[in-house]
Amino acid sequence: MGATGPEIAIVGAGIGGLTLALALRARGIDAEIHEQAPELREVGAAVALSANATRLLARLGLGAELTAAGAQPTELVYRHWRDGRRIAAHPVGDAYRARFGGPYLGVHRAAFQRILGDAWGSERLHLGTAVGGVHEDATTEDGGGIRLDLADGRSIRAGLVVGADGVHSTVRRHVTAEDVTAYSGTSGFRGLVPAGALPSLPDPAAIQFWMGPGAHVLHYPIDSAGTVNFLAVVEGPDRWTEATWRAEAAPEELLAAFDGWHPAITEMLAAAPQSARWGLFGQAPLRRWSRGRAVLIGDAAHAMLPHHGQGANQTIEDAVTLADCLADARAAGGSDAYDVALRRYEGLRRVRTRQVQRSSWVTSGLLHLPDGRAAERRDRKLATFAADFGWIHAHDVQREPVAGPRAS
Ligand SMILES: Cc1cc2nc3c(=O)[nH]c(=O)nc-3n(C[C@H](O)[C@H](O)[C@H](O)COP(=O)(O)OP(=O)(O)OC[C@H]3O[C@@H](n4cnc5c(N)ncnc54)[C@H](O)[C@@H]3O)c2cc1C
Repeated sequence: MGATGPEIAIVGAGIGGLTLALALRARGIDAEIHEQAPELREVGAAVALSANATRLLARLGLGAELTAAGAQPTELVYRHWRDGRRIAAHPVGDAYRARFGGPYLGVHRAAFQRILGDAWGSERLHLGTAVGGVHEDATTEDGGGIRLDLADGRSIRAGLVVGADGVHSTVRRHVTAEDVTAYSGTSGFRGLVPAGALPSLPDPAAIQFWMGPGAHVLHYPIDSAGTVNFLAVVEGPDRWTEATWRAEAAPEELLAAFDGWHPAITEMLAAAPQSARWGLFGQAPLRRWSRGRAVLIGDAAHAMLPHHGQGANQTIEDAVTLADCLADARAAGGSDAYDVALRRYEGLRRVRTRQVQRSSWVTSGLLHLPDGRAAERRDRKLATFAADFGWIHAHDVQREPVAGPRAS
């Protein structure tokens, strides 16, 4: 696996890039990260981490810090948008941890990013380094490996480039000409609210979905003070024209969209300044995740809607799987170790991420049903949610190669 530069160049220091770097280091492989932002700072509010990822993070030595920084919700509860009745509930506290071997945690994104960043350190993290293009041709092959062209005019060579650069990935443009990002027709608003500002909220320590016509709200606690993170999702705008996934919304637009909802929800949305609007994107499956010496992980490979709370969790699974595939192939030796590793990585990850992607897309519509027969059918089905979706949380990428939904 010889290279003229660092062995592995990772583009993007988000959740995927940092986790991959740590997982590679744990397997004795050298990496450098190139991040366009001048500092490590997560935009947005919080992230929910499930056992399929917290187990892996614990093996990287981050379990205690994450548990201390975050909050473990007590239950997953589904509620009616107007009267607030409990439609279904499933444990996600200690019973979940015992069943799945890792906690379910809500954590502030900035805290999570800081834990990952501190564990990696600053020496091999190049901030303010935007990658403008990736080149691999006869010239780069002669020089060894693959070339990254930076936006400031410099170039870097590496043995392998990993695109951990998110939904609008630059590395993906090198890997495939496919333009697969699909706007879902829905957008979200996010906010953080102190628990004390929510007198009408039942079960503030739970993770809860409130489902109503054309909209839903998801919220969960993210720290020991009981701070609640919410994501309020509405239908529209019809088209997404911004180059990024954030856009400004009209003042009071969020409150107007939830007029008539249960007081716990109107109170929650009014208690935080209205955020930017986040366009929610999915992705048609890519035909390839790698080309030559470039490979994709995370949102660059399989952006998904947040309705199973799995984008970051699947990204962490990708990162650990790729690190293991690279380490195993290197240990086995041979001049084609990268090819072997990348083939194995894609083989292990494509089906599972596709299943989660598809399921999140279907869930989007189900959360927005108006009251009526279809909503009643959905509500009955939610009673078996924990059994139906246990396959997502039970899967351990380091213990069992592939796992999918139960045949039904
Ligand atoms: C509203 C919302 C709520 C969500 N909630 C959850 C949740 O509860 N649980 C969950 O699991 N997932 C959730 N997700 C999804 C999750 O945030 C993403 O799946 C996850 O962040 C993907 O990680 P990543 O490392 O692939 O990409 P990102 O986190 O997007 O990181 C990409 C990084 O690459 C950098 N970059 C981009 N281009 C370049 C370039 N050319 N050169 C150098 N650097 C570059 C960026 O600056 C960024 O730091 C949510 C998403 C949204 C939109």
